[in-house]
Amino acid sequence: MTNEKPDWIRLHKALALEAEHGFTDLVGKQYCFSEFLSLTFGKFPPGLPPKERSHWHQIAMQFDEYPNWEVQVRQHLVAEVRRYLYKLEKDLEEVDLKSEREQGRIYPSKAENSRTPIAAKVSRRLAPKIDQKLSDIAEIGIRKAENLARLDLLTVRDLLFYYPRDHIDYARQVNIQDLQGGETVTIIATVKRCNCFTSPKNRKLSILELILKDNTGQIKVARFYAGARFSSRAWQESLKRRYAVDSVIAACGLVKASKYGLTLDNPELEVLANPGDAINSLTIGRVVPIYTLTEGVMANTVRQAVIAALPAAVNLKDPLPGGLRQKYGLMELKDVIANIHFPKDSDTLKTARRRLVFDEFFYLQLGLLQRRRKAKEIQTSAVLAPKGKLLEQFNEILPFKLTNAQQRVINDILNDLQKPTPMNRLVQGDVGSGKTVVAVVAILAAIQSGYQAALMAPTEVLAEQHYRKLVSWFNLLHLPVELLTGSTRTAKRREIYSQLETGELPLLVGTHTLIQDQVNFQQLRLVVIDEQHRFGVEQRAKLQQKGEQPHVLTMTATPIPRTLALILHGDLDVSQIDELPPGRQQIQTTLLIGQQRHQAYDLIRREVVQGRQIYVVLPLVEESEKLDLRSAVDEHQKLQESIFPDFQVGLLHGRMTSAEKDEAITKFRDNETQILVSTTVVEVGVDVPNATVMLIEHAERFGLSQLHQLRGRVGRGAAQSYCVLISSSRSPDAQQRLKVLEQSQDGFFISEMDMRFRGPGEVMGTRQSGIVDFTLASLVEDEDVLLLARQAAEKVIDMDVSLACWPLMEEELKYRYARLMGGAILT
Ligand code: ADP
Ligand code: MG
Repeated sequence: MTNEKPDWIRLHKALALEAEHGFTDLVGKQYCFSEFLSLTFGKFPPGLPPKERSHWHQIAMQFDEYPNWEVQVRQHLVAEVRRYLYKLEKDLEEVDLKSEREQGRIYPSKAENSRTPIAAKVSRRLAPKIDQKLSDIAEIGIRKAENLARLDLLTVRDLLFYYPRDHIDYARQVNIQDLQGGETVTIIATVKRCNCFTSPKNRKLSILELILKDNTGQIKVARFYAGARFSSRAWQESLKRRYAVDSVIAACGLVKASKYGLTLDNPELEVLANPGDAINSLTIGRVVPIYTLTEGVMANTVRQAVIAALPAAVNLKDPLPGGLRQKYGLMELKDVIANIHFPKDSDTLKTARRRLVFDEFFYLQLGLLQRRRKAKEIQTSAVLAPKGKLLEQFNEILPFKLTNAQQRVINDILNDLQKPTPMNRLVQGDVGSGKTVVAVVAILAAIQSGYQAALMAPTEVLAEQHYRKLVSWFNLLHLPVELLTGSTRTAKRREIYSQLETGELPLLVGTHTLIQDQVNFQQLRLVVIDEQHRFGVEQRAKLQQKGEQPHVLTMTATPIPRTLALILHGDLDVSQIDELPPGRQQIQTTLLIGQQRHQAYDLIRREVVQGRQIYVVLPLVEESEKLDLRSAVDEHQKLQESIFPDFQVGLLHGRMTSAEKDEAITKFRDNETQILVSTTVVEVGVDVPNATVMLIEHAERFGLSQLHQLRGRVGRGAAQSYCVLISSSRSPDAQQRLKVLEQSQDGFFISEMDMRFRGPGEVMGTRQSGIVDFTLASLVEDEDVLLLARQAAEKVIDMDVSLACWPLMEEELKYRYARLMGGAILT
């Protein structure tokens, strides 16, 4: 029967992944989540009892509708199907078991003694199996298992890997005279007085008051018991008996100052038979886990369930080999699991957590490095010569001397191009560092070897900017180049398509229009992608597929912190242009509040009178495009009519047609308009050297890197330039954050600070945030662990890129990497 069953594991994984990713209908290699589910439920597996068929059919139909539903409805369906599957699977197993038992094949395995002390205390039973259902575990039972299912905790494994979100340290045992407010402590003391009564204000609340005394002092503590069940006299009497005068108890909790002096805030209490007795509680005297809970699931339910499940951890095989663990000082997995839940003490907790953080980084790096290594096994036919006539000519026409950084990066690139494997290099360089020239060198290297190249940029504005620059150089070199965007006319398009196919046209510049099906090259061997982070993975891949294993050069002007770079670009070779061309000035940056806006207007007037030009940028209001539009239109009207009626004020925003945008930009470029009011459309690429002031309204709504990027629109000519940030936000955090820009012009430093203030998810925006979605690891605090993990992953890949020597590690990698990359497991 076993081989007739559906692939439960894959189904469960798909459902779990979808839940983890917030019900976004994950896209896999072959299908998206809803398609996969619909297909799976659309066929009845051979073992399926006939009475389940209509239900399967129904589920399949529901998943057809899934993409049209709101998140809550999706969530509900996924949860329901998960529960249904577990129940069904269990029913089927019981049938299996019965038949096997009848044949006398099932023997209980030998009880294994748990080495986890707390688990040993609670349970001397058979250790649960790692994939056992929680409802099958005696200490948990069906009712509690149902509760836990609300947290998506269905099996022992789920529980073991359900890490607490925090811990409270009750392990600190303190004398009463040494108590200090704000600490969480345990005291051992004798009961001097005990009182238990109904609250005068609330009939359903019982209050237990104790005076506790040790050798150093005494303290009054109170505990509250709410609910009808706890307000009976009988219950109060039982409490009085339990905490009778002269009994010795352990009490733990947060020390708080009250009007009677220090007290413990609603402490946990436990009576000790003898003062020296070991404390037997789940909380007292321990470092106690705090789990994320949901309605109807109590903290202690989860704690007790975890304790029941913990003995299973001793059977966990550690995928990391002992040698590697030793080298990097990593705790073994089974100890990690025991200690991440109920740590011996806070140092042990730290060690356990460090291992888990290491794992999160390690497997990602392993996956990225493996991918990089595999990419290097691919062959390309385009081995390019680093020297040639075109490159020599280009050197001659270049109106400036390359910076050392540019030269170094060019060397990296030419070096890559000579190899028989395709280049896969990212060039990072601050705004204005001169990435275009570097790209042109690569392009010319391809053309002089007889191949074609493509340059893709994320916006029309930027593509056109590139095109203009390239035309001016290519004319001197007597080479054709064309621009293809959404607004290219049909006749022109046709001409371009045919010239590409014959190979007449060596270089095509454009937007994502380049990836359309009609675009076919004769011999595309180099792909350059500018502002690569603005494209999705598939878009980049699609352009590459237009060539045969082409070399790929990606560029970004958004510097990101080193840690993030390792996470996001760990599979690429990275070069940095960390030097600006000489003579670039510092852009004088000032932060103003709204009432000081007139200072900015004074500056603008002074500059325009001297013939300079100004950008005024407004943030995108994501909730409402209409509102967004209004703000730009209103601001434009205000500036034109009330503030600067004697100047020409232009307007540029995302809702304009490309012809309108073109017109606005052209007018500004030709100085027909002196002031350009814009949304963030100008962020990349717009290049008007005569502009000297960048005024940004509501600056607190932008990320620092984005502001830095915007600031880079000025200071492109020789004249002193200014950036004025206006923010009326009262939040000290916002003010402090923006001050970073007043103080620094270093894109890497700025991005580092941005990440510290806002966290990596915000810094990267939604497109890539999934990839930095770690459970425990923090890119800000765990940088050292990340660097170690990278090193370890490099060692492992060096030893055996296939990971065949470490099958467990390989399996773990597959699972984790798929999770991090989102959805690949569906196919
Ligand atoms: P980015 O890195 O932002 O794409 P660009 O390639 O657009 O920068 O270069 C910004 C400006 O600097 C351009 O006008 C370019 O011609 C100029 N430039 C590039 N390299 C140098 C250099 N080595 N010396 C002087 N000017 C340079
Ligand atoms: Mg550029």
